[in-house]
Amino acid sequence: MIKQAKELLQQYYGFSSFRPGQEEAISHVLERKNTLAVMPTGGGKSLCYQIPGLTLPGTAIIISPLISLMKDQVDALLSYGVAATYINSSLSSEEQRNRIQDMENGRYSFVYVAPERFDSPAFMTAIQGIQLALIAFDEAHCISQWGHDFRPSYRSIVSTLQKVPNLPVLMALTATATQEVIRDIKQLIEVDDEAVVNTGFARENLSFRIMKGRDKREFVTEYLESRPQEAGIIYTATRKDADQLQSFLSKKGYAAGKYHAGMSEDQRKKVQTDFVQDEITTIIATNAFGMGIDKSNVRYVIHYSMPMNIESYYQEAGRAGRDGEPGDCVLLFSSQDINLQRFLIDQSPSEEKKKEEYAKLQAMVNYCHTHTCLQKFILEYFDDPVPPEPCGKCSNCMHAGEERDMTKEAQMVLSC
Ligand code: ADP
Ligand code: MG
Repeated sequence: MIKQAKELLQQYYGFSSFRPGQEEAISHVLERKNTLAVMPTGGGKSLCYQIPGLTLPGTAIIISPLISLMKDQVDALLSYGVAATYINSSLSSEEQRNRIQDMENGRYSFVYVAPERFDSPAFMTAIQGIQLALIAFDEAHCISQWGHDFRPSYRSIVSTLQKVPNLPVLMALTATATQEVIRDIKQLIEVDDEAVVNTGFARENLSFRIMKGRDKREFVTEYLESRPQEAGIIYTATRKDADQLQSFLSKKGYAAGKYHAGMSEDQRKKVQTDFVQDEITTIIATNAFGMGIDKSNVRYVIHYSMPMNIESYYQEAGRAGRDGEPGDCVLLFSSQDINLQRFLIDQSPSEEKKKEEYAKLQAMVNYCHTHTCLQKFILEYFDDPVPPEPCGKCSNCMHAGEERDMTKEAQMVLSC
């Protein structure tokens, strides 16, 4: 079976060898073992369910949290000549019905759906009447209440699936999994220990840097000046910051667009397309931007202020260098950033949630003040299964041994 998988890799994708973890994950699924694959962003998780989906008879159902993500994946599969489609709320009801009918007629090898689709009786009836190759949960951290992007509808699928008589092998894929999330996913979709494939989170091609005490606008201007043709993302904490920074940079003549949830769907789509097609080089965005954007040549990700936790930080910074070429990840820290994040956390109605978020914020603040290797700090935070070594290229590794102040703001977020 795995020989056939190698042939498919060559035939459909034109790749000559598997990336770490891919072959192992694929062979578990082909043996019909429920499988969890934890691989970094850009590690090649899509192949891990696509190759079994091409190999096993029947239709593969892929659960994906974002409409844009589904479309990109389906377009890619169609370009390889694979019959694939998505069924989601972006389609008219008539079109949804047509596609469900085509699915029932065995027209598709891959059907991408949002988690909510499992609440639809028409869809549930349809999948029970066909042969299923596998069901994959992409971005599977959404299943766990410990995940930073928890979606209740993801979780409820598991009980819905228990009623499906023709249940095929299940697969979960994620880049951001702490031990808690891994445990949760394993239990929910019944994955045995030996079917957890965890390649670790290290992204060797990324270098991390923290800048303190710099005028942020001045830093960004100089930075863009020094990298004129390169694509990058600048994350701001608020929409207002994104608006202001974008208009500042545009006035200076930079090809910079913006993206946040306060803009219309059309505006956002346009900016995203312009960015993916290299019409604009820099995008100034809130955390609304990024998930599912398949742009592999992003050379830098700047955080204009500190994000709320390391999970979000690593996921956002990880959008740099998905092609394996160097990616530069800079975090511009100022002590006001802490107040803003505390304010955002305080909006939560749940005391328990607040406490959890404060603890994560504290870890984020510690990251901004640590003297150890930044990459190592992040990997240790995620309990990386591969013991991390100093990266040798982050701002701490580069300046190791220099005298530095340990500032007040590093102290307890929790205690204030
Ligand atoms: P992930 O979902 O883990 O973030 P993707 O599945 O989107 O990653 O893959 C990231 C990129 O890596 C894609 O451009 C994909 O074509 C490429 N890729 C995946 N597997 C391989 C491989 N075995 N050899 C070369 N490139 C690969
Ligand atoms: Mg992916």
